[in-house]
Amino acid sequence: MEIPILYLIIPCYNEEDVLPITAPLFLNKINELIEQNKIHSESKIMFINDGSKDKTWQIICDLASQNEHYIGICQSRNRGHQNAVLAGLMESKDFCDITISIDCDGQDDINAMNRMIDEYLSGAEIVYGVRSKRETDTFFKRATAEGFYKLLNWMGAEVVFNHADYRLISSKVLQEFSNFKEVNIFLRGMIPLVGFKSTSVYYERHERIAGESHYPLSKMLSLAFDGITSLSIKPIRIITITGIFISLFSFAMIIYAFISYFHSSVTPGWASTLIIVCFIGGIQLISLGVIGEYVGKIYMETKQRPRYIISDRTTDECHKNSIK
Ligand code: UDP
Ligand code: MG
Repeated sequence: MEIPILYLIIPCYNEEDVLPITAPLFLNKINELIEQNKIHSESKIMFINDGSKDKTWQIICDLASQNEHYIGICQSRNRGHQNAVLAGLMESKDFCDITISIDCDGQDDINAMNRMIDEYLSGAEIVYGVRSKRETDTFFKRATAEGFYKLLNWMGAEVVFNHADYRLISSKVLQEFSNFKEVNIFLRGMIPLVGFKSTSVYYERHERIAGESHYPLSKMLSLAFDGITSLSIKPIRIITITGIFISLFSFAMIIYAFISYFHSSVTPGWASTLIIVCFIGGIQLISLGVIGEYVGKIYMETKQRPRYIISDRTTDECHKNSIK
């Protein structure tokens, strides 16, 4: 097998504190892999600036002017981690043989890359980085994150347990993946759908080197919700089944009411009426909400808006000149 060209795909959002520390670590890794003849010397480290409000893009441009292995693209505005990774994958798929997506905060162990590439060289097209431990996460983060994977799987979105977005994907897989045109992106659930031979590599996740997490509970919940609603229609099924049970229950209640009416004196049953009205009202509202989510998704998909917009590239000739 020929020596593969590797592109590291690194999304960055407001990472001015972290980038100067982690960028050289990525470069060392690339140089080490090149020396070991595992990857081609044309391999690159691609930073995707996700509309940062701080000096992140400036730092990326400076890095690109210092070393040819560094390149960067800039999203026209903040679109979120998943879109940033997608932009990087789609931008690099025609120039490389393999990509590895990794966060820029040093949480994912870069030494796992050696094993990922070994797995690729022995035939895997997708290699998932899976966290073996979550000791550095707070109890809350661990509980919510693990609950998240369990809920996703239960809802029918197949995801690799404890795998975030640290993974190796070959360009062969990416070419096929580029035919997945949806705008609502949940990479963890979508990549397994492409198929091909895949395997996992285990690593320990560290604490963030600097700066703060951009994934507060609200964003995690919305990612979980997106994950479920873009990959599964189980929630709608659950509503239907609940509806059937409630209808059966109501039917029994109607019969009971009739029997009571004819056989005994009816007391003013406002309490039971109220309870049932509230109960049914609640269920209906939730059901409408969930169905609305799907309708909203369909609405967004029919617009076919671009999934990412690149405003700048460090490889553009004019840009190279302007930063000199
Ligand atoms: N990120 C991004 N766009 C965003 C939020 C985050 O590109 O809107 C990047 C961020 O720079 C980092 C990665 O996604 O490289 C993961 O984010 P973070 O470390 O904040 O999340 P956590 O590791 O806490 O889940
Ligand atoms: Mg992080």
